[in-house]
Amino acid sequence: MNGKDTERLIAETGVTPKKSKGQNFLIDDRVAERQVEYAGISESDRVLEVGPGLGILTSRLTSRSGDVTCIELDAALADYVTATYPSVRLIRGDAVKVPFPKFDVFVSNLPYSVSTPIIFKLLEHDFRKAIVMVQKEFADRMVADVGSKDYSRLTVNLFYRADCRILENVPASRFKPKPKVDSAIVEITPRPAPFEVLDERTFLRVTEITFNHRRKKISTSLKAAGMMPPGFAEGEIPFLDERIETLDPSEIATLANTIFRLWNNADDTGSVTEEKPLQ
Ligand code: SAM
Repeated sequence: MNGKDTERLIAETGVTPKKSKGQNFLIDDRVAERQVEYAGISESDRVLEVGPGLGILTSRLTSRSGDVTCIELDAALADYVTATYPSVRLIRGDAVKVPFPKFDVFVSNLPYSVSTPIIFKLLEHDFRKAIVMVQKEFADRMVADVGSKDYSRLTVNLFYRADCRILENVPASRFKPKPKVDSAIVEITPRPAPFEVLDERTFLRVTEITFNHRRKKISTSLKAAGMMPPGFAEGEIPFLDERIETLDPSEIATLANTIFRLWNNADDTGSVTEEKPLQ
């Protein structure tokens, strides 16, 4: 595929590429080839692709596995994919809303407007590997170091569940229509968290509310969200005077574990003796 092929296909399908749907089509076959190669797909893998578009990845995925499911929001593109790749199981709809089928490998040039909810949704599933194309600045947030400006809720949530690395940067000129920003291909490999989390809900909630006010003292954010355990003794909760952006994910887990214990009056093993809901 090159720019001309893509223009022809856009004309044939009658699609008017929309920014709101993140419809910037990849036009470089070599990039697509490498992206699918990184996924290490075997014949028996169940493959899921979000947003097949004009099929630059889909054609390669179907040549590697007989079990490919695509989710496409745009009706004209969904029609095109069904007609061109009959072996694909196509789900028409919004990938943020429709349930994902079971899959081993996830490959997608993500629609930029929904990259965050789709990555978070992805993390709720059990899979072997994901290879995603995202905006470069989003990729930087996925893999950011503690204390950097890109270190965020996304970084911590991802690190909790997976190893994540940028495989290559892809310039904006490799897409049609050309987006304003460059992209990057990121590999996500799920693994168990390298630290203990007593209660996942508390860990994710502490991460969310503290990063919502990343420059505030942790105690301020926790108090505002009603998460500070009542009647705790001075020094019982670590890191309260720090800002969340200075804590690495395992320190955030230590903070969340302490809060969970205090709320639930749990002993050191985390076994709950008195269940109290978080606010
Ligand atoms: N895979 C193609 C490629 O690499 O050229 C297209 C990628 S384009 C960045 C994003 C694709 O996702 C488009 O086909 C768009 O119609 C589709 N899309 C946008 N929002 C979506 C959503 N919420 N759910 C499913 N597909 C969506």
